[in-house]
Amino acid sequence: MSKADSSDLDALVNKMKSAASPLRTVLRELYDKYLPLRDGKVADYIPELAKADPGSFGITVVTKDGQVFSAGDVKQQFTIQSISKPFVFGLALEMHGRDYVLSKVGVEPTGEAFNAIVLDETSNRPFNPMVNSGAVATADLIEGKDFPERVSRLIAMFSRYCGRPVYVDNTVFMSERATGHRNRAIGHLMLNFGMVRDRIEESLELYFQQCSMMVNCHDLAVMGATLANGGVNPVTGERALEQQYVKYLLSIMLSCGMYDYAGEWAYRVGIPSKSGVAGGIVAVVPGVAGIGIYSPPLDAKGNSVRGIKVFEELSERFGLHAFETGFTGPSFLDQFKPARTS
Ligand code: GLU
Repeated sequence: MSKADSSDLDALVNKMKSAASPLRTVLRELYDKYLPLRDGKVADYIPELAKADPGSFGITVVTKDGQVFSAGDVKQQFTIQSISKPFVFGLALEMHGRDYVLSKVGVEPTGEAFNAIVLDETSNRPFNPMVNSGAVATADLIEGKDFPERVSRLIAMFSRYCGRPVYVDNTVFMSERATGHRNRAIGHLMLNFGMVRDRIEESLELYFQQCSMMVNCHDLAVMGATLANGGVNPVTGERALEQQYVKYLLSIMLSCGMYDYAGEWAYRVGIPSKSGVAGGIVAVVPGVAGIGIYSPPLDAKGNSVRGIKVFEELSERFGLHAFETGFTGPSFLDQFKPARTS
């Protein structure tokens, strides 16, 4: 049997297993329960985001062995936005190593809005890679012989995580760039302090490109599953991130991934996650699975309203909090197995 045939067969076996698994029912229940929720507001700072359908809602779980469970609009495409930040940080780690990256971008939560104009002037670096200042400084660390090579390295990296070629939505990119004055101001302030190199305009362009990458809910779950699986995409078998760096992405996602709700998220939900302004959330249950959610209406802190609800419930029901001890409820792992029929 050829390699392609055997991976087709694996996919078929996984599909049959997941069709009979309790998690499929659980996700459907969560979808039905939270779809009627009408709270929150779709981001409208650029016209492309304002066009999103507030009723669009998808949930996908991909296990570390590549099984897929989903409910709702899991193929609806949207821009990755801030969810790109931990992944680009991972690429910077691979290019420069932990200590150099840490000398350029801190790892302390700010408790401030993602686009706050605050910098850690004592250590001369932005606070962390999940706020815009830190993300722009991280983009500045992405190397390449010229700008096209820097962009194509980013695209290649996201494609490895998603297991398919991804692309930048040019209309969103043009809008992000046309309206990105605040990010430009942050970039130039960092240049003033010597926190970034003098190619800052180009690095800002790179940041706008990374935010405009198109993904769907299924992609987010595969990306999360790749981290859950130590950096190897469980669907394609391709490595997207060196294993030694996975824990750094996850720890920053846990402490800083959910805008200025990150502390409460770590406290209540306890799953390393990152959300984006288009309404996506990627989450990682280390060693177990990745979870992707898409639902565009956002709460006041910028997180998907339905997304927060689903994660709160999944964490409670299956004891997914990172610091859970002695959980006596149903095991999440058991939800992946085919249900017993007798
Ligand atoms: N492109 C957005 C910005 O930099 C990202 C917003 C987000 O997803 O947090 O303002």
